[in-house]
Amino acid sequence: MPTLSIDIPASLLSTLTETAERDGTDTSSVISAALAQYLGTSYHTLFQVSTSGALVAGVYDGVLSVGSILDHGDFGLGTFANLDGEMVILDGRAHQVHGDGRVEVAGVDARAPFAVVTRLRPTSDTSIEAVSDMKGLEAHCDALRKSGNIFYAFRLDGHFSSVRARAVNPQQPGARLIDAAKAQSEFHFSDIGGTLVGLWSPGFSSAFSVPGYHFHFLSDDRKHGGHLLDCAASSLRLRMEALTDFHLALPESRNFLAADLSKNTAGELAYAEQAH
Ligand SMILES: [Zn+2]
Repeated sequence: MPTLSIDIPASLLSTLTETAERDGTDTSSVISAALAQYLGTSYHTLFQVSTSGALVAGVYDGVLSVGSILDHGDFGLGTFANLDGEMVILDGRAHQVHGDGRVEVAGVDARAPFAVVTRLRPTSDTSIEAVSDMKGLEAHCDALRKSGNIFYAFRLDGHFSSVRARAVNPQQPGARLIDAAKAQSEFHFSDIGGTLVGLWSPGFSSAFSVPGYHFHFLSDDRKHGGHLLDCAASSLRLRMEALTDFHLALPESRNFLAADLSKNTAGELAYAEQAH
């Protein structure tokens, strides 16, 4: 991260130091948060459109445009209207991984029923050695997480010896996610350079989010990708940001407003998100 050197009045400095001590943080964090607030820019913020429960229940209307989603972040995950493929938002572009494996940059007018984005500002930048599967990858990420009660963004870059990914195919309105998952396309890539766009969400968020890890893959040449099912790699650069501000934008579409979202859909979501 860049370093900023500034002159401030002694009284302000003492208040700043007291605030940092009171909050159990450092002065850099307090200044960054205060500046972000003053400048009206988001900081450690996760912005989500709709809920995972609505997706499970088959509410796939495109309720927000890609352009609006990108206004809230440059890094994230999601899907497209009618469940037409996986969304991978990386470096400010939304990529659409179709069920037939094609990847294209989605236009700003493309619409999404569900997406989660942040403006990635990593607070940790390390590298990890060989991982042979998802469990190994998650263990490395776990070692960096200080809490199970906040959200985290993870970006992993490097060369993968293997990647197993999937993309959902367009569905009829109202089809439940569990049925869409049964008709998903699976891809196997080997010896491929790429990036994993990952989010970790706490257990208590299962009513509206995907608890635990959720990774989408995008290759360096932007020609391959999908929702990650498994992977192996020799060494990866791992960047992480802890996210403590969560914004949930609820759709006002007729289908969302009328859907019965009172049921616990954790089981169906877990089936849809994992390898099977
Ligand atoms: Zn996914």
